[in-house]
Amino acid sequence: MSKKFECVRVVIRCRPLNETEKKDGRVCIVNMDTKNGQVTVRNPKIVDEVPKQFTFDQIFDTQSHQENVYNSTASPIVESVLEGYNGTIFAYGQTGTGKTHTMEGKDDPPTLRGIIPRTFDHIFERIENMAKNKQFLVKVSFLELYNEEIRDLLSKNIKNKLEIRENPDTGVYIKDLSKFMIESPQEMREKLLHGRENRAVGATAMNQDSSRSHSLFQIIVETNEMVQGQSHVTVGKLNLVDLAGSERQSKTHATGDRLKEAININQSLTTLGNVISALVDNKSQHIPYRDSKLTRLLQDSLGGNTKTVMIANIGPADYNFDETISTLRYAHRAK
Ligand code: ADP
Ligand code: MG
Repeated sequence: MSKKFECVRVVIRCRPLNETEKKDGRVCIVNMDTKNGQVTVRNPKIVDEVPKQFTFDQIFDTQSHQENVYNSTASPIVESVLEGYNGTIFAYGQTGTGKTHTMEGKDDPPTLRGIIPRTFDHIFERIENMAKNKQFLVKVSFLELYNEEIRDLLSKNIKNKLEIRENPDTGVYIKDLSKFMIESPQEMREKLLHGRENRAVGATAMNQDSSRSHSLFQIIVETNEMVQGQSHVTVGKLNLVDLAGSERQSKTHATGDRLKEAININQSLTTLGNVISALVDNKSQHIPYRDSKLTRLLQDSLGGNTKTVMIANIGPADYNFDETISTLRYAHRAK
């Protein structure tokens, strides 16, 4: 396993056909060979076209379980965050392919819980079992990036736009973003639910479509360890990102605000792809963090000593062919 592979990983997850798709007689055009990491997609419109094949480090087929996805993608990142490194997990893909299912999932039954709630349990389980000479401080914030505007999902006034600032010593930060101290997985879950509610309310009030925004749930773990009478502080940051839907925004019919929005979404996802592929390709001198707000505010958690996983989600059905190919190409380039 090469070093760069450890720092940035791209995996694919395909959701099953849903009830509506089955009822409509939709067929599955995606074949997943989990053993060899191969995804094969056939073109439903051109019967004799050679199927397109992509190879990845790891793929999760329609039968994959949430626990399995957590253990092989998020768990190692959480471990390194507890050791004081930064880490980022992205869910990428067309709307309806399972980004939120992968990141948040459902509480009931517990087997359907996604990465974010599993992360909460993992962190607190570790903390409880840590040596007594260590003290922990866990803080969270939750924000939304819509149309290159940042909003604090845990603040009272969700309509306020926040600004990115840069401090020469501590780097990029968001001015006035609220941070909450957390003492249990339950408290963290409350923050997640509260932010999610705020997001929905804000979207309605501002006439927004939440599939067009990125959300970032951030967990900061500070460890204070006493070694021979001296205290050593380490800080690890974990970024859990549910990205805006990657479907091509129709520019032909969009005008005004909608057009600006479409361009911004494409721009931020393109920049993210450029940053990740520049990180993977060691030769690149320039990493274009500054080309979008998303990459700018994740700058200290992408590259360097940090670990990143992108989970690219796809749908299995024939009518998703174009978007599925586009997601696989994006993911492959970032690999
Ligand atoms: P997105 O966030 O990408 O728009 P969602 O996560 O909301 O997509 O998923 C759309 C629907 O498909 C939801 O009802 C979700 O429960 C279901 N779904 C997504 N992925 C899976 C999966 N791997 N297994 C079962 N159901 C899934
Ligand atoms: Mg979603």
